[in-house]
Amino acid sequence: MEKYESKVFQHGTLGMLVPGLFNGTMTIEDLLKHGDWGIGTASGLDGEMIVLDHTPYLAQSNGEIRVLKAEEKVPFATVHFEQIKDKFTARNLTKKELEEHILKTYPYKNVFFAVKIVGKFSAVKTRVVEKQTRPYKPLLAVANEQAVFEKSDVSGTVIGYFAPKMFQGMAAPGFHLHFLADDKSIGGHLLNFDVSEATVYLQPFTTIDQHLPLDNQEFLDKDLDIADMHDQIKKAEG
Ligand SMILES: [Zn+2]
Repeated sequence: MEKYESKVFQHGTLGMLVPGLFNGTMTIEDLLKHGDWGIGTASGLDGEMIVLDHTPYLAQSNGEIRVLKAEEKVPFATVHFEQIKDKFTARNLTKKELEEHILKTYPYKNVFFAVKIVGKFSAVKTRVVEKQTRPYKPLLAVANEQAVFEKSDVSGTVIGYFAPKMFQGMAAPGFHLHFLADDKSIGGHLLNFDVSEATVYLQPFTTIDQHLPLDNQEFLDKDLDIADMHDQIKKAEG
C-alpha cells in the first residue's frame, strides 16, 4: 500500500482578519485549483463560504445563499481535494459529543484534518458575518454584528477543519465548521448542531500549503504583531 499523504491549502491566515484585512486577495477560480471542498469568507467579510464538490456557495447575512463567481475574491479560505481516510455513522450526538468522540477515537489532535458530515440534523444554529465597508473594523467588532440562523430537522452537509492549538493565528484552534442545508434554506458558520443520523468523514493532512498574498500592499504594510491577537481570535471565533 502506498504511504498516505494528503494536503490542505489555505489562502490568507485568520490572523490577517483580526486587524481588519478583509479585502479579497485570491480569485475563486485560482482557489479551486487547490481543492474542491472547503470553507472561507468573501471579500469584505460578505458572508460564510461553503465549498461543496467544486461549488463555492456563499451564505449571506440576509439569509440568502448564492454561488460565488469565478472572478470574485476571498481574503481567507481553506480547501482540499477529497481523500477520505476514516468514516463512521453518528446518531443522536451534540456538536460537543461528536467532536470529543472524534478526538478520542482518532489520533489526530496534533494535525490538521478535514471533517465532513452528511445527513440529518435535529437542530443547527449558524452565524453569518455582515458585509463590511472601508474603513474596516477589527474582526472582534464585526463578530458582534453577525446574523444568527436556527433550524430544526434539516438535511445537509457540514464541512470544515480541525486545527491543533499550536497553529493558533494561522487558524482558530479546534473545530471550525460550516453548514449548508440540502434545500439551501440555511447555511453559515456553525455555532451549534445536533446530529440525528449522519455519516462522518475524516481526512487528516500530512502537508499544509499556507499561501500568503505577496502582491497585496495592504497586507505587506500591516503590523500583524498584535499583543492580544490570540485573545481576540478566541472571542471572535468562539
Ligand atoms: Zn467560519
